Amino acid sequence: MLNVLEFFRNLPKKKCSKCGNDMFEKADCYGNLCDECDHPAR
Ligand SMILES: [Zn+2]
Repeated sequence: MLNVLEFFRNLPKKKCSKCGNDMFEKADCYGNLCDECDHPAR
């Protein structure tokens, strides 16, 4: 269990390529955009 936490903790933080906000790891299809910039309704 702790190994999994360490794994994610060591991952580099992703940043939105548009607004630069920190973002959580998501599906690859989302690319480098955060929820705000990648919102389908915008
Ligand atoms: Zn963004």
